[in-house]
Amino acid sequence: MIEVVEGDITLLDVDAIVNAANPSLLGGGGVDGAIHRGAGPELLEECRRLGGAETGEAKITRGYKLKARHVIHAVGPVWYGGHRGEAQALARAYRNSLKLAAEHGLKSIAFPAISTGAYGYPIEQATPIAIREAHGYEASLRIVFCCFSRHDADVYRRILSLEA
Ligand code: ADP
Repeated sequence: MIEVVEGDITLLDVDAIVNAANPSLLGGGGVDGAIHRGAGPELLEECRRLGGAETGEAKITRGYKLKARHVIHAVGPVWYGGHRGEAQALARAYRNSLKLAAEHGLKSIAFPAISTGAYGYPIEQATPIAIREAHGYEASLRIVFCCFSRHDADVYRRILSLEA
């Protein structure tokens, strides 16, 4: 099942929320900062032991003070105009997150719009990639796309409705 909601991902009661992390996995701005604030300092402690992640990779931790039981830290690509493998890297970030969730027997996962904030990936081009990867897992997972603006939620809804 695929759902689109508008709001703050740190408040969602799901098995895992996905963090749009940077390769250090040591926190940052945007959704990353919000997730670390919501989870508390123990999250950073666990992240320090992970040794970072490459673009397209994902690693799982506990959720600590969040309602979500786990955080999946996925590293999306920085947008350089679309000719540096950004689409493939973004697809891998989604796919690896979904794979981790499935491997851990999770039933629900929420994604922010990875790479579309500070990393500059155009939302119109990122969304079809997110949705395509979600289709591979929607039979076994409840997949929530948590958008931080009405505009982003409308983009997801429009692209999903075009498929129907
Ligand atoms: P990136 O560096 O991968 O671009 P950002 O955190 O800058 O990551 O932005 C990714 C997306 O997350 C953007 O659409 C941004 O608006 C959104 N975002 C920021 N804070 C939150 C939040 N608390 N919940 C959900 N989405 C958020």
